[in-house]
Amino acid sequence: MIDRCFNPDCRLQLHYLRDGRVVRVITRKGETDVLEHFWLCGLCYAAHDFTFSPSGEVKLEAKSSLRRRGVEDVILLMPTHPTGI
Ligand SMILES: [Zn+2]
Repeated sequence: MIDRCFNPDCRLQLHYLRDGRVVRVITRKGETDVLEHFWLCGLCYAAHDFTFSPSGEVKLEAKSSLRRRGVEDVILLMPTHPTGI
């Protein structure tokens, strides 16, 4: 379960999913599918977004850097303002 912002420089504690972005990532580890959720708080999501490597690793990247690389958006698996998990 998500408890903090994904940004290691922030780590804001999650109380309500009112802002920011939540993604759900399913990776296969051995014979098991592992479901993980990650959250960026609203302040961090204003300047950063998730990126996903082919191996399933979740990273953080500045939106300015994503735009420079021509990445308009990354895979959105959950709405920005979900009603809850
Ligand atoms: Zn944050």
